[in-house]
Amino acid sequence: MHPTDANCVFCKIVAGQIPSFRLYEDDDTIAFMDINPVNDGHALAVVKGHYPNLHAIPADVLGKVAATAQRIARAQQAALNPSGINLLQANGPGAGQTVFHLHFHVLPRTAQDDDLKVNWGHNPGDMARIKQIHEKLLKAM
Ligand code: AMP
Ligand code: ZN
Repeated sequence: MHPTDANCVFCKIVAGQIPSFRLYEDDDTIAFMDINPVNDGHALAVVKGHYPNLHAIPADVLGKVAATAQRIARAQQAALNPSGINLLQANGPGAGQTVFHLHFHVLPRTAQDDDLKVNWGHNPGDMARIKQIHEKLLKAM
């Protein structure tokens, strides 16, 4: 059994209680599109259990989330041909963490000079565009 938190948005996505543009799922992890994407293709690799951050998650489970992030990055590389891909994982409000359930941002970069800042802010994405890119990525999974 995974630890859960009834008030956590990612636990609700894991449980299927709220919708997501799901890319991948296995016994320990899930991946879906970020709904406030900083770039086209911005996705999240998420542990299924409610581990708030890097300090709380067991190392073997962390390895599984990392493997899921790698899987998503491979699909982004194949489907979107980005100029690069960053993984970003925040721990604590001071690091810009807003959802306290461990996840990696898998961030395709669109140009050499997009000048992306680590704390990029949350701007609601265009759902039709996210859906379109989701379908493209699914074909590359
Ligand atoms: P962080 O700020 O690093 O904790 O990242 C949390 C991320 O979760 C943000 O990029 C949000 O846009 C994203 N997010 C929050 N709620 C949802 C949701 N319901 N579906 C997809 N992404 C979400
Ligand atoms: Zn949670």
